[in-house]
Amino acid sequence: MIRKDKEQKKIPRDSCIRCGTCCLKGGPVLHNEDKKILLSGQVGYQHLTTIRKDELAFNPVHSKVEPTPQELIKVAGKGKDWSCYFYDEKESACMIYEHRFLECRLLKCWDTSDLMPIIGKNTLTRTDIINHGDPILLIIETHERECPYREINDLILSLPQEKDKSKHLAKLTKFVSKDLSIRSYALSELGLKAEFESFIFGRPLLKILSACGISVRLSKDVLQGYSPEPERLSSTTFKIEQER
Ligand code: SF4
Repeated sequence: MIRKDKEQKKIPRDSCIRCGTCCLKGGPVLHNEDKKILLSGQVGYQHLTTIRKDELAFNPVHSKVEPTPQELIKVAGKGKDWSCYFYDEKESACMIYEHRFLECRLLKCWDTSDLMPIIGKNTLTRTDIINHGDPILLIIETHERECPYREINDLILSLPQEKDKSKHLAKLTKFVSKDLSIRSYALSELGLKAEFESFIFGRPLLKILSACGISVRLSKDVLQGYSPEPERLSSTTFKIEQER
């Protein structure tokens, strides 16, 4: 992939050579115009993930990681990385090419002038695509209230400067527990399918913390009832600690 990036920079281009670099870097953010693709049944909740408001994410307009100004829905990655769920590496092709999303249609890696003006404009949110009256909407509301990213970000960003980190870590532990228990409730009591979890709640907080260098280890009782994908929660010690 690095080699591809370097090659891509070397070659002046005015058409797509299907190198796949853009699809390997991540799926598109969905816009209102993409709603019809969802309604056609080509793409379901299991293919999507939510970037919650204020979650730290790469902003292509500013070319840096920063708090996301609004909730975004994005095509999910393949699991271990962000490469688009619909990218077929063997064939170097998009599996839904005829129905690909607005950003995919506008993106030309050699010239982003068509794409840039629509970044962050008319984007979809969860409430735009979940049926009105679905009980999961109330749980999403609770999750947003109980695990607010703004507060969590403040804790993450100020942690390195803190002399006594224990208070910060205790607060983060509380948020991780709340995040997991709300997810557990939706999975066990409301019958939420595990494959929809990333769309309904975004990435688990423990994963976000881990990406920020804060290792998260939880006890079995905290994890009880939350094991949609057990392999991603391998550690079972009840503690949050900062990685050295
Ligand atoms: S939907 Fe298709 S074109 Fe768009 S990023 Fe994914 S694989 Fe690439």
